[in-house]
Amino acid sequence: MQKPAQTIYMDHAATTAVDPRVVDAVLPYFSYKYGNASSIYGLGREAAKAIDEARRTVADILGCEPGEVIFTSCGSESDNLALRGVGWARRNLGKGNHIITSSIEHHAVSHTCEQLEKHFGFEITYVPVDKHGLLDPDDVGRAIKDNTILISIMYANNAVGTIEPIAEIGKIAKEKGIPFHTDAVQAGGTLNLDVDELNVDLLSLSAHKVYGPKGIGVLYVRKGVSLLPTQTGGAHERNRRAGTENVPSIVGLATALKIAHEELETNNQRIAALRDRLIKGVLENIDEVELTGHPTNRLPNSASFVFKYIEGESMLLNLDLAGICASSGSACTSASMEPSHVLLAMGIPPEVAHGSLRLTLGRENTEEDVDYVLEILPGIVQKLRAMSPLYKAAAS
Ligand code: PLP
Repeated sequence: MQKPAQTIYMDHAATTAVDPRVVDAVLPYFSYKYGNASSIYGLGREAAKAIDEARRTVADILGCEPGEVIFTSCGSESDNLALRGVGWARRNLGKGNHIITSSIEHHAVSHTCEQLEKHFGFEITYVPVDKHGLLDPDDVGRAIKDNTILISIMYANNAVGTIEPIAEIGKIAKEKGIPFHTDAVQAGGTLNLDVDELNVDLLSLSAHKVYGPKGIGVLYVRKGVSLLPTQTGGAHERNRRAGTENVPSIVGLATALKIAHEELETNNQRIAALRDRLIKGVLENIDEVELTGHPTNRLPNSASFVFKYIEGESMLLNLDLAGICASSGSACTSASMEPSHVLLAMGIPPEVAHGSLRLTLGRENTEEDVDYVLEILPGIVQKLRAMSPLYKAAAS
C-alpha cells in the first residue's frame, strides 16, 4: 500500500485538531472583541458576557450551577487545584491529611500527590487496579480512614482507555462525607458528565482533548466544598483562581464541549465501530500481542496493545515513517525509558510493557485509515522482531 498523502492521526488522546466551528467562534475574541472582562466599559462587558455564556454552557453539560465552574489554564492545573486546594483547605479545618487516589492516575494527579506527601506532610493511599486497569469501589471504601479528606479517581484512563466505576465510588465517598474528585480529561468528549449522576464533588476537564484549544481547562467544584486558591491575585473566578480570563479560549472550550455533547451518540457509535475493527484486525493478524485495558468497558476511541519482543519507541518511529501518528501510551521519557506506570500497575511485566502501542481514534478517521494501519503494522512488527535478540532466543 502507498503511503497516504496526508498524515493519519491516531493519537486523539494526546490532543485533537480544533474544530473549524470552534475556530470561527473564538476569532472575534482575538481581534475586535478584545476587552478585559473586569473593565466596566462596553468592550469589557462584552467579554464578561461571553464568559458568562460559556460558563452557562459548561454548567448545562455538567448539570451544575454556573458558579460551580472554574476556568483554569489546562487539565493539569484543574487536577492540581483540586488536590492542593481541597487538601490544604480541609487540613486547615482540622479534618485530617489523608488522600486516596489510584495507582493509574495521570501524572497531573500522581505527581501532585507525591509532592503533597513529600513536602507538605500528607498521607497518600494508592488503590490498586486489576489486570484490565479497573478499580474495585470496595477497595476505595476499605482505604477510607478517620483522617481521609479527599478521594481522587480518574474517570477514564489515558493510557488504556478503561472507564472507572465513578458513580459507585462517589456513592461511597458521599456516605462518608468525603469530597470526591475525578479527572475526566479523557472522558470529556465521549462520556456522560452529569456531576449528580456521577456523585462527584470536583471534576477536571481540558478543551484540547475535545477539539478545543490547548491551554484551557475547567474545574467543577460543588457548592460547599472548601477550596483554598493555589493561585492568588485578583478576584477572578469568584476568588478561587486569579488571572485575567483567557476569553477566546474560554469561548473555545465551551463551544467545543457543546458540539461534542450534541454529537456524542453519533460520533461514539461510528468511532467505536472503527476501534473494534482496529482491535480485531490487530489481534487476528499479529501474534504475541495483547489488548491492554478493559475488553469492553473502555473509551469508544481507545485501542491499546502490548507487543512482545518490541520496543514501543521503534514501533512509533516506523509508524511515523509510514505517515501514522500514534503513541506508546506511556509517559516514558526518552532518558529513562521507564515503562508506563499504568501498565505495570495492571501487572504487565516491564519487558512486555516496553512494547506498548496506543491508537486513539477521532472524528476525522475513516475505515480506510484503519485498514491502512492494519496493512502496515504487521510488517513493522515483523521487521522489529527480526532484529530482536529476545525474539530470536524465544523462537529457537
Ligand atoms: N489528565 C488526563 C487523564 C490526561 O490525559 C491529561 C492529558 O493528557 C491531563 C490530565 C492533562 O491535561 P492538560 O494537557 O490539559 O494539562
